[in-house]
Amino acid sequence: MSREISQIGIVAQSSQKTASGFARIQTLGPSDRIKNALRQLGLYWGIGLFCVLFPLLHFILVPFFLIFGVFMSVRAGVVDRELVDSSVACPECGKPFQLKTALARWPLNEVCQSCRWSFAILPDSRNLSAQKISSRG
Ligand SMILES: [Zn+2]
Repeated sequence: MSREISQIGIVAQSSQKTASGFARIQTLGPSDRIKNALRQLGLYWGIGLFCVLFPLLHFILVPFFLIFGVFMSVRAGVVDRELVDSSVACPECGKPFQLKTALARWPLNEVCQSCRWSFAILPDSRNLSAQKISSRG
């Protein structure tokens, strides 16, 4: 299976300021997507199973997590790109901000750890042509 890593420009946008950076994104193959979907399903069904222990609340919580797990699983399964690395500064305080490895579902909503401002991260529209930097077989 081929896994491609490409580098794209990203923009961090708070209410008034913007900062640009880059992100490296990995294309996920079908088996990775199934793995992500099953991980979400297992997580929420696990929580649902745990909720069986709570009297009365389990009538609501167990069906909720069973349905929510299916929803989150489908949601994770359709995403075909994963962030592997990124470099962007907080648009408000300018401190470097490290994105956690996450499924690339734009926009990403983040909160700066140093100034507590929330901002959205989007792919840079001026740099839509992703630059392929490596390819592994
Ligand atoms: Zn900040």
